[in-house]
This record gives sequence, structure tokens and C-alpha cells, in this order.
Amino acid sequence: MGASAAYHLARGGCRNVLVVERYGEPGLGSTGAATGGFRVQFGSETHVRLSLLSREKLLRFREETGVDAGYRPCGYLFMARAEAELAPLRRAMAIQRAAGVREVREVDAGEIRRLVPWVRADDLVGGTFCPIDGFIRPLEILRGYREAAERLGVRFAYGAGWADCLVEGRGLERRVAGVRTERDVVATRRVVNAAGPWAGLVGARAGLEIPVRPVRRQTAITHPFSGIPEDAPLTICLWDGLHLRVRDGRVLLLWHVDTPGRDPADPFDTTFYRPWLDALLPRAYDRFPILAEATVDVERCWAGLYEMSPDTHALLGPAPGVEGLYLITGSSGHGVMHAPALGQLLAEIVLEGRARSLAIDALRPSRFAEGRPNPEDAIL
Ligand SMILES: Cc1cc2nc3c(=O)[nH]c(=O)nc-3n(C[C@H](O)[C@H](O)[C@H](O)COP(=O)(O)OP(=O)(O)OC[C@H]3O[C@@H](n4cnc5c(N)ncnc54)[C@H](O)[C@@H]3O)c2cc1C
Repeated sequence: MGASAAYHLARGGCRNVLVVERYGEPGLGSTGAATGGFRVQFGSETHVRLSLLSREKLLRFREETGVDAGYRPCGYLFMARAEAELAPLRRAMAIQRAAGVREVREVDAGEIRRLVPWVRADDLVGGTFCPIDGFIRPLEILRGYREAAERLGVRFAYGAGWADCLVEGRGLERRVAGVRTERDVVATRRVVNAAGPWAGLVGARAGLEIPVRPVRRQTAITHPFSGIPEDAPLTICLWDGLHLRVRDGRVLLLWHVDTPGRDPADPFDTTFYRPWLDALLPRAYDRFPILAEATVDVERCWAGLYEMSPDTHALLGPAPGVEGLYLITGSSGHGVMHAPALGQLLAEIVLEGRARSLAIDALRPSRFAEGRPNPEDAIL
């Protein structure tokens, strides 16, 4: 988010952009933990439109930045076991089609067997498949935006340590005065909070409530395994959130269930907890029997943090209550795929006062204080 925002700000003519990063190198936050999925199959129109704008930008990413974003349209396959689970998929599909996605379609159990023959499909009733969904390379997208931004004069201060936003004035007069890092103080009237899962903490330290909190997500990875092809679609069990993809010859398994045994005292803890894997594996073997031939590379399994907002939609635009502070955070687990779109929109808001490329009123950060959050995205 920070690299995309900085690039788009510089491309829009903003001079003197500085990115301050706590760690000594890029990608050590959530972006390096992302598995690299891309989808237009969402249940909210705003999410679908963000994906479509991002997709346009991913298709010309190399032209724009000189780096390959690794976009491979292998598809996302949502699978349902009951008619009741098909209903939200159908509603989401209607929203996707209305937004211009012609490729998404409903599939029956027979087609699921053809698409992913390694799935146990005897109890499935159907699902949806969209062939323009697929995969991207998170760290390459970060590199592309960073290098393109640097060519436009943006400076990146890595290893700056924790940065706080300095605010002056009281009540309705509060405004940004600068940023204090562990190395120095920078005076500025405009700050973009792109702190991912830490965005809420950055806000709290400036006396501001930003409703973004970290939620851990773990990923299991196998040793190299050729039983499922590299271009297999990302496959999701709608009833419990278990999903599977192949990346660089290894199978990745995700499951949206919190980790038994984790340390509740540290919400930013990214230690990988083994009990989660022990709970996941029987489910995975049951649904994907071919995995009995694979072995998990426990040393390489990892945990990372989603930057969750209360309605699973990003917070984009001016932070209510402090003039000059902008937010680009809260994507709730889809931040890599939406970073191209959100960075462009943020730059439009900062430089021109409004988003031009897309109607994104639904993302205004003030919606929570107004008591008008979006309905949560129904499918994932
Ligand atoms: C297991 C897992 C799988 C995922 N899979 C996908 C996926 O398939 N597709 C997808 O689109 N998304 C996925 N995500 C979500 C995605 O990783 C995030 O939405 C995205 O990386 C958020 O980007 P960001 O730039 O906001 O946050 P980050 O990448 O965390 O960047 C924030 C940066 O700010 C720095 N920072 C924070 N606070 C401060 C401070 N006070 N001072 C200085 N620096 C600070 C951090 O060090 C960090 O480098 C996944 C996440 C996880 C954990």
C-alpha cells in the first residue's frame, strides 16, 4: 500500500514523497506473508470494481513499472456442499456480472470433478468458477512500485524504526504536523497511514481511533509435490474456508480458523503454531485425498497478519478528526490484489480532492463514526 500510494502520488506530480519503513528491508510486514491470490469473485460491488481496476493495472504492470506482477489467470473455484451455500455464491455472481464480469459461471459437481479431479466431490452440489481470477506475485508488485517510485524521485527510508504521526491543535482544529521516527523528525502537513495491521496502533498513538486490527492467518506448505499442477485453480470449501493452491511446485493450504494455543497477549504475534496444522490436516486429507502422497514442510509453514476492518472493506481517504492525515489500510486480507487500485485512488483523493477512477464512497473512513458501515462481504 505504501509503495503503491507513493508511486501514484509521484506519478500525479507530487514532489518530495518520503516513505518511512520501520524494518531494514521491504516486504517484512503482511505483504511478504501473502500467498498471492487475485480474484474478482467478491460479494460486494465495491470489491468487485476494485478488483477490475486492479486487474487493468496488473495487465499493464510491466509497461508501467518495468516489473512482471506475475498475474496468471488460473481461476478461483468456490465449492458448496448444500443448496443454502449456493445462495450467497449466486447473489455474489449477480453482483459480479452487473459490474461487468462476464467470465464468472456456476458449475455443477461434474464440472468441479473435471476442473479439479483431485478433490473429493461426492458430497458437493456445485459452486462458481471465474477464470480471470488467479495468482499474482506480492513481492514483485511491491518491487515494481518501489523501483518506479524511486525513478520518479520518491525516497524510501528503510530501518527508520517505529514512526509516529505528530498532531498539533485541539478538538476540531487538529492537524498533522509531521512524523517522528526513531532516527529523526520530519515536518509535513500531509501523512498517509499505510501501516497495514499496525495502522490502528499508529492511529491510537496519535489519539485517533482507526478501526483496523491484526488477525493472524497461518499457511501450511508441502515439500515439492507434483501431484497437483501449478496452474490448478485456487480451490475454496465455502463451508469452512479451507483453501488450496499450488505455488512454485508446493501446495499451500489456508484455513480461516484462529490458532489454538496462541499467545492472546500479543495480537501482532506471527509465530507459527503447530496445533493449527494438526487440526487442519485431517480436513485437508479428507477433501484432497491426493495430499496423502505429499509431506508438509513444517519448517517453512508461516503465520502473518490480516489488517481487518469491521466491515472487511478498506479505509481509504481522509481520516476523520485530523486534517492532513489519509488512510490506505483495512483491506482485510485482499490488500495485495487491491493495492494497484487503492494507490491510484488515494493519489487522486490527496492531489485532486476526490477519487476520479472509481466511485468509492463506500470506503470513506468516516463511515464507522457515522454508524454506516458496509454490509460484510458475504463469501470470503
Ligand atoms: C497468510 C496471508 C495470506 C494472504 N493472502 C493474500 C492474497 O492471496 N491476496 C491478497 O491480496 N492479500 C493477501 N493477504 C493480505 C495482504 O497480505 C495484506 O492485505 C497486504 O499485504 C497489506 O499491505 P500493506 O502494505 O497495507 O501492509 P504491510 O505489507 O504490512 O505493510 C505495512 C508496512 O508498514 C510498516 N509499518 C507499520 N507500522 C509502522 C510504523 N509505525 N512505523 C514505520 N513502519 C511501520 C510495516 O513494517 C510494514 O512493512 C494475505 C495475508 C496473509 C497474512
